[in-house]
Amino acid sequence: MARELHSARLLSKSLISESAQCYHFDFVLEDLESFPFISGQFISAVATDSNGKQQTRAYSIASAANLNHFELCVNRVPQGFFSNHLADLIDLPPSGRIQVHGPHGHFILKQPITDSIFISTGTGIAPMRGFAQWLFPETGPDAGIDRSEGKEIWMVYGTRYESELYYREEFEALAARKPNFHYLPTLSRADESWKGLRGYVQEHVARIVEERAARLGQPLPAPPPDPTILPAELKFDIYAYICGLNNMVASVRERLAGYGWHRKQIIFERYD
Ligand SMILES: Cc1cc2nc3c(=O)[nH]c(=O)nc-3n(C[C@H](O)[C@H](O)[C@H](O)COP(=O)(O)OP(=O)(O)OC[C@H]3O[C@@H](n4cnc5c(N)ncnc54)[C@H](O)[C@@H]3O)c2cc1C
Repeated sequence: MARELHSARLLSKSLISESAQCYHFDFVLEDLESFPFISGQFISAVATDSNGKQQTRAYSIASAANLNHFELCVNRVPQGFFSNHLADLIDLPPSGRIQVHGPHGHFILKQPITDSIFISTGTGIAPMRGFAQWLFPETGPDAGIDRSEGKEIWMVYGTRYESELYYREEFEALAARKPNFHYLPTLSRADESWKGLRGYVQEHVARIVEERAARLGQPLPAPPPDPTILPAELKFDIYAYICGLNNMVASVRERLAGYGWHRKQIIFERYD
């Protein structure tokens, strides 16, 4: 595992949700020509707290690989050290710097690409944005390439209020451009004006799974895979990728297991 520390300079920071105190960050690693990573991976950020103690926290990269840049999506955690340290960074030298090592992690897309359900809440959207940018690049040398191979991609995103739909315009624009990309934001505390989905992500994931199985004439619960195939060699025609706090991750995993989904079909990243 790469442990070499790099200095990351903050290029820009924007508040993307006032109510959730969530920020988007664009960093550049000036000592590197390129920072290769696989969409969905995270960096470890290192800083010294007010007691002189070195603190390290993981943050999913909220972008696809792009030269020596990486982006983050972080919300302030009350009384938390690192999230507030980041949110208070000023995008001017010398203060706007953090130390990072990485990339790390195995929360990455299975190859070849299959139908996929991306499920997240809160800042769990970060690696999903990285997935979407890799599948459907809009900038850089790969702009216009479509790596989805026509597979259905559902992006189910849960939050409380409309004001907390991070990157909403980006995902809506992508869904308008790509008929196989489905953006499904759902609100648990929507006001009356909200016309979209309501409730928790697991309800909408269940509907996607049921409708797809019916459309393809597949039985639900799915029958167990052939026991002669080694777990490492199992292949599935759909995977779920889940990212966020453990309660949500556990609820979605349980729901999918109830449909006979194999544990290898469910890839997840827990933030707590
Ligand atoms: C692989 C991985 C990727 C991650 N990616 C992201 C990301 O992209 N964006 C992001 O914002 N966070 C992400 N996190 C969470 C992040 O690492 C920190 O835990 C978070 O920023 C809080 O750190 P802190 O130092 O501010 O709080 P701490 O000082 O560590 O904790 C303060 C208090 O808040 C509680 N707490 C810790 N984390 C959370 C949380 N996420 N929500 C609510 N309460 C919490 C703790 O239990 C503690 O009581 C990720 C975590 C992991 C493991």
